[in-house]
Amino acid sequence: MCSTPSEAPALGKAREIPFAGGFAVVYVEEAAWSHPRTKAILSRLQNATVIPCKNYKEIFARPHQEPTLQKKSQALILAVSPPPFLYDGAPVCQDFGNAHFYYTSGVMNCIFDCEYCYLQGMYPSGHIVVFVNTEDTFAALDAVLAKHSAYVCISYDTDLLALEPLLHSVSDWMAFAAERPDVTLELRTKSAPLAVLRSLPVLPNVILAITLSPDPVIRAYEHKTPSLTARLSLASEALSLGWPVRLCFDPMLAVHDAQTVYGEMFDEVFAALPMDRIHDASVGVFRISKEYLRTMRKHRPCAVTCYPYELRDGVYAYPADVSDGLLSFARDRLLTVLPKERIFFWESEQEETL
Ligand code: SF4
Repeated sequence: MCSTPSEAPALGKAREIPFAGGFAVVYVEEAAWSHPRTKAILSRLQNATVIPCKNYKEIFARPHQEPTLQKKSQALILAVSPPPFLYDGAPVCQDFGNAHFYYTSGVMNCIFDCEYCYLQGMYPSGHIVVFVNTEDTFAALDAVLAKHSAYVCISYDTDLLALEPLLHSVSDWMAFAAERPDVTLELRTKSAPLAVLRSLPVLPNVILAITLSPDPVIRAYEHKTPSLTARLSLASEALSLGWPVRLCFDPMLAVHDAQTVYGEMFDEVFAALPMDRIHDASVGVFRISKEYLRTMRKHRPCAVTCYPYELRDGVYAYPADVSDGLLSFARDRLLTVLPKERIFFWESEQEETL
């Protein structure tokens, strides 16, 4: 259960926390050399070999790369993003009922290594690109906010919280959101950095979305990610601090004896967290675009990528009976602890509440 509420720091008071992951090699694009964020990031990677390059695509978009092998020894690439800086939410992503749903891609790729990750189908490389010109994304979002409110996912193509000790991007985004009540940010993570969480402020318009999976699924498919217990500790601490917390049970996988495996996970989650204080929950089964799965099967044939999915409107997904079985099981369990208005499901090509 939650510990005694502790005081979250005010904006602008983020502490320096050492970045444990490290990168041995950092490529720096010509246009990014003089950017203050480049200098700050390099100052936190004092032992790295720094190599200049003309354009990040020389490294990231080279043909014939082996992303799965590269993930074992990732390089960091610092670059300046060209427009667009904001993207409309993809059809396979949940919008949680928000009319104006966007996502950003300020970082491409992730320090974790989930076998089912769509990034393996999307990117030609396993290295990580960080676009240092966040101010351009902020300007683009301000132009949107001049017209209407916006819901923005800032951690889709990476795990920004896991990289926070190196990048400080989350604290930059929170400083932006603190002055703009019309924007709601979703910060999605599988990481569990308690010290980082405690170094950040708490805002009503920044939702911490924590992806939860059963431990057998984590061990088999979500390499390098924290255990369920560690993720629940993060959720518990976030609730204590006052964060709006979203629990994401997505993607559920059709593993052997799935109801037992996911049932034990729900038991552990409900025992660890005060569910009445959860902002909402999202549930979805694994689904992926046809093109991405083709690439993933080539680079990483495994139980998840080689499953005999059914193709519907360009998206591979489980057969309806498998998908419905997983979703209705999750629905029944979640309805015992959350009202239906706070549970969001991704079903077929559309998202819906119950
Ligand atoms: S944590 Fe998310 S972004 Fe990172 S590898 Fe896993 S699925 Fe991909």
